[in-house]
Amino acid sequence: MIRLRHVRKSFGACAVLRDVSFDIAAGEVACLIGPSGSGKSTILRCVNGLESHDGGSIEVDNVLVTPRSLPQIRSAVSMVFQRFNLFPHRTALENVIEGPVHVLRRPIAEAREHAMALLEKVGMADHADALPRQLSGGQQQRVGIARALAMEPRAILLDEPTSALDPERVGEVLEVIRGLAEGGMTMIVVTHEIAFAREAADSILFVDGGTIAEQGPANEFLANPKTERTRLFLRRVR
Ligand code: ATP
Ligand code: MG
Repeated sequence: MIRLRHVRKSFGACAVLRDVSFDIAAGEVACLIGPSGSGKSTILRCVNGLESHDGGSIEVDNVLVTPRSLPQIRSAVSMVFQRFNLFPHRTALENVIEGPVHVLRRPIAEAREHAMALLEKVGMADHADALPRQLSGGQQQRVGIARALAMEPRAILLDEPTSALDPERVGEVLEVIRGLAEGGMTMIVVTHEIAFAREAADSILFVDGGTIAEQGPANEFLANPKTERTRLFLRRVR
């Protein structure tokens, strides 16, 4: 469903993605792991067109990511950010209905009903009228996930969804993501939570120096990393 072939991306003279190829099937949960600066966020941003790529190809549901296909790509792929990115002066509910009402042009009553169901799903229905600053980081992130789901995406890209959270808030967000995985949502999750990857991911891709240095089924990858580089990395983050 998501297919990258020989994707390249530079910022000025700095080649950030050198030759990235992988496939994510519908319903698959893939975790991207790798050192800081290796290109993980850039990969996600290229997939939903927040950054343009310089070479190679990216397809979502057989649609090539190009400047012209961006509206279509953005409606197929939602992004969840590390720092939640909620509108600060809007309530949780208003944050969730924003996209459906203004982008998808859904009637407000229908968008509200759907949004309440999504807030229920992430355990935030009781806080529908709260402003982001009245919520903990974990609660804000759960609203962020509800907001991504409200766009009825075919896939969700999550960029370190728990790394800005207090340790005791990480579990509640991972629980929501695990629920989505069990529901068959296609996801690419950038994470340092190896325990989560072991439990919830189908596959793991190790990004290093702008390439996919190693990839495989999650259990196999973690139990038996093939390269010394991967072994070293896993030892450090565990
Ligand atoms: P982290 O784990 O720290 O989030 P990452 O793997 O997500 O790292 P990226 O954010 O993809 O890494 O960045 C890869 C490289 O590209 C870094 O060297 C970064 O400085 C550079 N980079 C990213 N975005 C830009 C930009 N908009 N302009 C210039 N350089 C950038
Ligand atoms: Mg990043």
